[in-house]
Amino acid sequence: MRRKLVVGNWKMNGSRAANATLLSGIVSGFDAATAEAAVCAPAPYLAQCEAALAGSPIGWGAQDVSAHASGAYTGEVSAQMLADLGCRYVIVGHSERRAYHAESSELVAQKAVAVIAAGMTPIVCVGETLDEREAGQTSVVVRNQLAQVLERLDADGLEKIVVAYEPVWAIGTGRTATPEMAQEVHARLRAQLAEKNAVAAGKVQILYGGSMKPDNAKELMAQPDIDGGLIGGAALKAADFLAIIHAAT
Ligand code: 13P
Repeated sequence: MRRKLVVGNWKMNGSRAANATLLSGIVSGFDAATAEAAVCAPAPYLAQCEAALAGSPIGWGAQDVSAHASGAYTGEVSAQMLADLGCRYVIVGHSERRAYHAESSELVAQKAVAVIAAGMTPIVCVGETLDEREAGQTSVVVRNQLAQVLERLDADGLEKIVVAYEPVWAIGTGRTATPEMAQEVHARLRAQLAEKNAVAAGKVQILYGGSMKPDNAKELMAQPDIDGGLIGGAALKAADFLAIIHAAT
């Protein structure tokens, strides 16, 4: 049985003061019996997350990583550095990075491999744009995005990833995929994982992301292949984030 996982993606938001309030609110209201939870913070605040969350069951992670191990890559952060800071998760291939930083699925796959090699869990994001959905290309687009990652993993590696389906048109728009629309894509993604290894596919958590809020989280996460959420805006308020975690039960 897969446990539910709720991850907050803070994106480029926060300050030391705001994070302190948010993290202490999450820690004090979190009940580990409900679901697994983590926050993915901007890199300068990962040490703050470590200080606030060490010893709690709540994980922390980064929003991006370099595909390179070390060396002359100014501005980049390696997987090993993130592991050194105690990160459990790293988001790779978020649509904002694909769109604004021209990240290809091949680069995203290299990053996922680097994250696994450093002993962490990549949260591999896939999702179609509105134009792609309206052109009936959703299945092909998300399949191709995931395929690049799967090509580089053996069955052992497969179990070490989390997948996040985030339809681009639902991110930050208040427009959510219906539970049925999301479930359809999640089931296809799981079938694609199963082509590689059926047992491992049954263990991989597939999260939904895109305007998930306290009032729609429960019905989304009630779908058989929706194993949690990747939360943007609603992860910036402890009460909303906790309400989503509680909706996972
Ligand atoms: P919102 O929850 O703000 O729509 O963002 C979703 C997202 O992009 C999480 O990675």
